[in-house]
Amino acid sequence: MTSFRSAVSADARSAFLEALRATLPGLQLLTDAAETERYRFDETEYTRPGQPLGVAFPTSTADVSEIVRLAAEHAVPLVPRGAGSGLSGGATAVDGALTVVLTRMDRILEIDRANMAAVVQPGVINADLGRAAAEAGLFYPPDPASFEWCTIGGNIAENSGGLRCVKYGVTRDFVLGLQVVLADGSVIRTGGKNAKDVAGYDLTAIFVGSEGTLGIVTEATLRLVPAPAPKLTLLAFFPSVVAAGAAVAAITEAGIVPVTLELMDAFTVRAVDEWHHLGLDRDAAAMLMIESDAGGARADEELSGAADACLIAGATSVLRAADAVEADWLRQARRAAPGALERAGVARMDDIGVPRACVPQMLSEIERISAEHGLPVGVFGHAGDGNLHPTFVVDRGDPTAERRINAARAAIYASAVALGGTITGEHGTGTAKKGYLELQRGADAVAVMRAIKQALDPAGILNPGKVL
Ligand SMILES: Cc1cc2nc3c(=O)[nH]c(=O)nc-3n(C[C@H](O)[C@H](O)[C@H](O)COP(=O)(O)OP(=O)(O)OC[C@H]3O[C@@H](n4cnc5c(N)ncnc54)[C@H](O)[C@@H]3O)c2cc1C
Repeated sequence: MTSFRSAVSADARSAFLEALRATLPGLQLLTDAAETERYRFDETEYTRPGQPLGVAFPTSTADVSEIVRLAAEHAVPLVPRGAGSGLSGGATAVDGALTVVLTRMDRILEIDRANMAAVVQPGVINADLGRAAAEAGLFYPPDPASFEWCTIGGNIAENSGGLRCVKYGVTRDFVLGLQVVLADGSVIRTGGKNAKDVAGYDLTAIFVGSEGTLGIVTEATLRLVPAPAPKLTLLAFFPSVVAAGAAVAAITEAGIVPVTLELMDAFTVRAVDEWHHLGLDRDAAAMLMIESDAGGARADEELSGAADACLIAGATSVLRAADAVEADWLRQARRAAPGALERAGVARMDDIGVPRACVPQMLSEIERISAEHGLPVGVFGHAGDGNLHPTFVVDRGDPTAERRINAARAAIYASAVALGGTITGEHGTGTAKKGYLELQRGADAVAVMRAIKQALDPAGILNPGKVL
C-alpha cells in the first residue's frame, strides 16, 4: 500500500489541518492518536491499518465537499467510513490519510409513499431505515446480518447483501440515485425517484460497490416495496453439510424462492447453542433456516415444499415455528452465528460465492481445505444465494495462524473460481482480497477498473490502496 505519510510532507499535512479548521470551524476533528485509534480498524481480522492524520465527522454534503476540496488541494488522501463493520478492510486507516466518518449524517430525509422511495443520508443505520419504512407500510429488503449497526453508505459502497437477498436481491437493486462528492470536491447526482431512467451511462451502478474509491456518497434515493406478510420460519437439521447443500440445490430446482435460505454447519450450530441455549440439535452436521414471507396459503406451500426437499435430501428433523415469537427465537440462531464463532477464538470470516447448484461441492471443498491446513472452520451463510462464509477459528496468539489461514483462503478462492464462483459474494475486495481480483476478473477487466479510477480520481486520494 502506498504510504501517503511519506508522500505528503509534514508541512502539507499541517497546512491541510489548519485550512480545515479555518474553513469548517464547527467540524469535529480528532487528531490525537488515542482518540483516532478506534477508527483505524474495521471488523476484518489480520489487517494492518496505517496511522491516520485525523478523523473528521462531517454533518452535511457541504462539509464533505469542502473536506474533499481541501484534501485535493493539499494532496492529502481520504478514507470514507461508515460504522466500520466491514469485513474486507475497506474502511481501515491509511497512513497520513484523513478518515471521514459519515455517521453524523444520519437523517432519513423522506419516506415517499407515492413513489415508493426513501431519501436518506449515508449514516442512517440499515435497521432504522427498515423501521421507518415499516411505519409507512413499506419495506427496505437489503439486510446485512450487521443491520442494527451498519450504515446505508457502507451498504451502498460494498453493495451489501443479507438474509433476504435470495428473494429480493442485493443493495444495488434498491438504489435509484445517489448524491456523490467527487475527488475534486464537486457534487453530482446520478439519478432520483424515476422507476425507469436510462439517460447516458449508469453512473449510479459505478458508485455502488466502489468501496469509497471513486466518490463519497452523501445522499441516496432508495427503492422501497410493499411490506410483506409476517414470516413463517423453519429449521431443518442434516447428518452432513453436503446433504444440506443438496437440499439447497433441490429447493432452488423446485422453483421455490423463500425469502431466507441460510446454512450453518455443525461447528457453528454448537457454538450458537452453547451461547444462547436455543435447543438446536447439537449432533447435526448442518442446519438450514428457511423462511417465507409470501403470506397465507402460499407461504404454507413454500415451506411445505422446502420441508419435503430437506427430508428427501436426508434431513433428520424439521422444526417449524408455531408463531411469530417462536420464529424470532429460531431466527436468533442464524443472527448469532458470527458472534458465537468469535467467542470461540479469533474468527477470520471469509466470503465466497458459487452458482447455487454448486453449493454441495463448495462445502466439500471447504471441508477438504480446512482439514489439509489443520484449521477449524465454521461455515454459515446465505446458501440460497450460493454465498458462504467459511470462518476460520484459531487460538488468539497462535503465531502460525495467519500464515495457515492465508494459504487456506487462497485454496478456497481457487476452488470457488474453478466452480464458476467468486472470491467475494458481498463483503467486497477492500485490502483483504485485492491480491485476488485478477484471478476473479482477469487482467483486462481490472485494467478497465483502473481506467475508471484514473478518470474519477486521477490523484488517487480516495481510499488509496483499497480494491485495486
Ligand atoms: C457480524 C457481521 C455480520 C455481517 N453480515 C453481513 C451480511 O449479511 N451481508 C453483507 O453484505 N455484509 C455483512 N457484513 C459486513 C458489513 O456489515 C457490510 O459490508 C456493511 O455494508 C458495512 O457498512 P459500514 O457502515 O460498517 O461500512 P464501513 O465498514 O465503515 O465501510 C465499508 C466500505 O464502505 C466505504 N464507505 C462507507 N461509507 C461510505 C460513503 N458514504 N461513501 C463512500 N464510501 C463509503 C468505506 O470506505 C469502506 O470501503 C457483516 C459484518 C459483521 C461484523
